[in-house]
Amino acid sequence: MKEEGAKKAVGEGMELLAPAGGIAAALAAFDAGADAVYCGLKSFNARERTENFTPEEMSKIVAYAHKLGKKVYVTFNTLIKDSELDAAAAALAELDLIRPDAIIVQDLGVVRIARDFFPGLAIHASTQMGLHNSAGLAMAEAMGVKRVILERQCTLDELELMAKTSSVELEVFAHGALCCCLSGCCILSSWLGGWSGNRGKCKQPCRRRLYSEKGNGFYLSTKDLCALEAIPRLAAIGVKSLKIEGRLRKSDYVASAVTAYRAALDSEPGDFEKALPSIRNTLAKTFGRKWSLGFLSKESASDLIQHNSMGVAGLLCGKVTEVKRNGFEMEVARRIHVGDSVRIQPPSGDEGPSITVTKISSGGQPAMKGLQGSLCFIHCDKEVAPGSFVFKIAESVGDLQGRIDALKPQRASVDLEIKAGLDGVFVKIPGREEILEWKHETQFQSAGKRPLSPEALEEEFRASASEALCAGAVSAKVEGSPFIPSSVLKSIRREFWLWVEAKLPPDSARKDSEARLAKFIELHASMKGPGTESPRPTAIVPKSKKTPEGFATARELEEGPKAGEEAILPYFVAEGELSKLEKAIQKAKSEGVKVFRATSVFHFKLLKGIEGVEIKTCLPLPCCNAFAAAELASFGASQIQAWVELERAALEALIEKSPLPVELYRYGRPPLLSTRAALSVEGLVADARGAKFFVERKGELSIVLSEKPMSIPELPGASSLFDYRFAGFDEKGASSFNFDFALS
Ligand code: SF4
Repeated sequence: MKEEGAKKAVGEGMELLAPAGGIAAALAAFDAGADAVYCGLKSFNARERTENFTPEEMSKIVAYAHKLGKKVYVTFNTLIKDSELDAAAAALAELDLIRPDAIIVQDLGVVRIARDFFPGLAIHASTQMGLHNSAGLAMAEAMGVKRVILERQCTLDELELMAKTSSVELEVFAHGALCCCLSGCCILSSWLGGWSGNRGKCKQPCRRRLYSEKGNGFYLSTKDLCALEAIPRLAAIGVKSLKIEGRLRKSDYVASAVTAYRAALDSEPGDFEKALPSIRNTLAKTFGRKWSLGFLSKESASDLIQHNSMGVAGLLCGKVTEVKRNGFEMEVARRIHVGDSVRIQPPSGDEGPSITVTKISSGGQPAMKGLQGSLCFIHCDKEVAPGSFVFKIAESVGDLQGRIDALKPQRASVDLEIKAGLDGVFVKIPGREEILEWKHETQFQSAGKRPLSPEALEEEFRASASEALCAGAVSAKVEGSPFIPSSVLKSIRREFWLWVEAKLPPDSARKDSEARLAKFIELHASMKGPGTESPRPTAIVPKSKKTPEGFATARELEEGPKAGEEAILPYFVAEGELSKLEKAIQKAKSEGVKVFRATSVFHFKLLKGIEGVEIKTCLPLPCCNAFAAAELASFGASQIQAWVELERAALEALIEKSPLPVELYRYGRPPLLSTRAALSVEGLVADARGAKFFVERKGELSIVLSEKPMSIPELPGASSLFDYRFAGFDEKGASSFNFDFALS
């Protein structure tokens, strides 16, 4: 506890949020001082390549965290096909029992399901939702989202402007690897083989060496983010939570990163600058890439990519000199030890395998370590390219297994609405078929100086006396300033929990949750699309091209669409530019444009209330399932465009179930990656595997386009969109993208 009169710490009130790829990392994070961790189940999360949690492990870590007064947020942040909705809802039902402090969501369909069927789960909007201005925050609030994890490509100035307009909690990335692309719209990895970043499968092709006419380099590979210096400003802005990236990283990374940021947040304003060098030393143990302020300042965004450096994560330990069937020989540049984790980086810049070193031989003899200057053999069964570099990404750490084995699962949770007044304490248990009510009627005296606070009331009732049940979502109200001595409040709380135990058998929470899931499944099964008479196809055309015969015309708003044409709205509009966009929409409307294409959620806020306007969605605003379509319908959309990454079966399922008519993106060059970072290359580039791309500048963004356009066939029941912005009419050799195989 802070002594009275102690100065306010720099980051007082700000949550330090750490990544937990597995249960050991979660324990390490809490040990080092994290206030909360975020972690995922084995599926439906954007880091499927890490260990992740079984429901039982999740239950244990939530129980452990709550005992310490800390929090756990569960990542549920992938796009979900319609055929997967029932399984996703079953996973939500499981989480409803475990009751983490929130779920982190990308898919609008999941937002709708969680909000309508599992209201005990608080919702945080994932950075994958790409919310980056106040109109986006307003939409999040309207959806029932409690917190927004902001797009990483916002500047501090923009954050400050946004925070002034919104009461939704803001979470900001402070440390770790950065995606080059705006969140949620990268389809580069998917384009190169179906490994969708929006489904937790990204293979990080942006880290590869690329070849251009002018030379070669790592043109899309960003430095890491380190926002230590920005902490005082982020605190002043009112950012609620500071997030460390790295669910693919091990416990020692988590421990070092959390220790460093804890020290920064806890330092007093006068000591902050002085403390930074030692904090940076601690952080250096995380073996990251070169640090920068990321996109938080315009200057750092312009220097975020040093294309002539591979910019890999880790500490260089040596080079592979020979590859054999059972491992590889390396020349050791820095000591390597059994238990260390290493990443083996092919010279091409492609993603290499990561291993934990379990066996080393030196001079033909078993060894615990390889020493600097020696040759040693690392036993492994992964494919390793000759000439690869070996980077240490984690050192051997103490064994946490004993503590993990001793963890106990979470008790079944019960939501409470508590009211205390001068006439007693009253509790409602909502969320069941029949609302349960309990009361302790008595006359309390009016408090003089220290009336009971809602926080104290909540804290008391959270201390459940039951072995089987605990408090879930709690709302506490105090009316009339009653004075309730703490011993009296304790005994009222005990009395209440005894009553709950008698009233609710331990499996009642599971039964409730199953009943909610059954309701969802029934509704989903009954959903049926409206069908479509296949209206005229639409063509997006730039000024320089003529609309083909028989097509409706759509143009980008900045190209000045005319009466009768559709207007495509820009998908990234920084906070300072919003009012300009609003004016441009009004102008287009006054000139007779009636159909607007929303390419991001924030557009619905800008279009709301404008009379006589029709809203259709368009790439890169994703819609993969019928519940996402229903959510978009509730925003005012009259037609949705199926997400461009979906394969045939997923498109057909969406057409069958979507409550809104569905359009397919049938032809064009969809931007594979869009970024605010300054890129030092333009025009044609290729990687070592022969994949070719175009890099183009488009307003404030640089975009990466594929060499070939995509083209997919018509499907019954859906209309068609042809995008000629970056593609000619009927170019030869088009790719069918993911259409012909199941997107994993
Ligand atoms: S920018 Fe795209 S390809 Fe690179 S890591 Fe991010 S999602 Fe993957």
